[in-house]
Amino acid sequence: MLQKAASLSRLGTESAFEVLARAQALAAQGKDIINLGIGQPDFRTPDNIVEAGIKALRDGHHGYTPANGIPALREAVAADLHKRHGAEVNPDNVIVVPGGKPTMFFAVLIFGEPGAEIMYPNPGFPIYESVINYSGATPVPFALKEENGFAFDADDLLSRITPQTRLIIINSPANPTGGVTPKDQIDKLVSGLADHPHVALLSDEIYSQMLYDGREHVSLLQYPEIRDRLIMLDGWSKTYAMTGWRLGYAVWPADLVADATRLCINDHSCVNAAAQYAGLAALVGPQDAVRDMVASFDTRRKIIVDELNALPGFRCADAAGAFYAFPNIEGTGLTSREAQDKFLSEAGIATVSGTSFGKWGEGYVRFSYANSAENIREALRRIREVL
Ligand code: PLP
Repeated sequence: MLQKAASLSRLGTESAFEVLARAQALAAQGKDIINLGIGQPDFRTPDNIVEAGIKALRDGHHGYTPANGIPALREAVAADLHKRHGAEVNPDNVIVVPGGKPTMFFAVLIFGEPGAEIMYPNPGFPIYESVINYSGATPVPFALKEENGFAFDADDLLSRITPQTRLIIINSPANPTGGVTPKDQIDKLVSGLADHPHVALLSDEIYSQMLYDGREHVSLLQYPEIRDRLIMLDGWSKTYAMTGWRLGYAVWPADLVADATRLCINDHSCVNAAAQYAGLAALVGPQDAVRDMVASFDTRRKIIVDELNALPGFRCADAAGAFYAFPNIEGTGLTSREAQDKFLSEAGIATVSGTSFGKWGEGYVRFSYANSAENIREALRRIREVL
């Protein structure tokens, strides 16, 4: 009998990948499936980025790179953050990693151990809770509520801090809710943290370029008073439709750069070189493709929010950012999981149960609108039929 580590049983998962596998299996059996389950842009990576990746391979960039990323890419990240957020970032504090996820794993491994508390949003990206549990730390969820537009409430967060709290994870614009936390709540959180100098902050800003109706992204990098304890996560996956390239980064506080780099060396050595050159082209090249993708998401967002609100038993809050709508489905009499299963098996529509994002996701279902307007309309027509 193999003896596995007990910690493994505490590791959770991201159910969107399971839904994707089930949807693909049904499609392989000839079923007509529309996928509103997985959170990835339905666009191809823009051509100039693909060409830069191919060129890097042709030019012989086949070996290891520095563990924290090629210097030109880290400089381009710093310049991009200055352009977008007006933030001064030292390229030495930028660590390039394979996607958004490694940064959260490393941040939690750096702070998490039995006795430590780590706070995270619920409903929220499921990997936060999973890796906190894995680390042995105590997960301390804070609720994101529909009546607040799924923004966090800074007073609520601050009131949960204890001497054991080591890290707070925030995410705006948010997965799975599409919620965007307004600046006044972020201001309040940052000023409240002055009383808790032992607490670090991981700000997951992977959807920083996807806000609608004139909203502007507020980056935590814009608060110099917490830069010595801020880990700011962003990347290429969503913005440049590069989920499969596995490329992301974080800006780390000076004190943690060596620890995070050591984790990189132990874990993956470096990100594959060609992907890094592609990421460089993405940042320094034209940004029209990003604007076009965000404009398409916005069009689809309006369609899906309107149509979800017209479904019997559904109520859908304004989706302010990212590419998710998170309707309340309590009026259908179905649990979230029942709704997810019914929509997939009876209507051929993949969605993700709100409970896949934490227990407070009960009563909600996540719809990714990273799909064509035509497919979104057809998906909701079919759901109406089975309801
Ligand atoms: N953070 C959030 C909030 C996400 O929704 C996702 C992906 O869905 C990620 C991070 C991870 O992105 P990546 O695919 O680059 O690891």
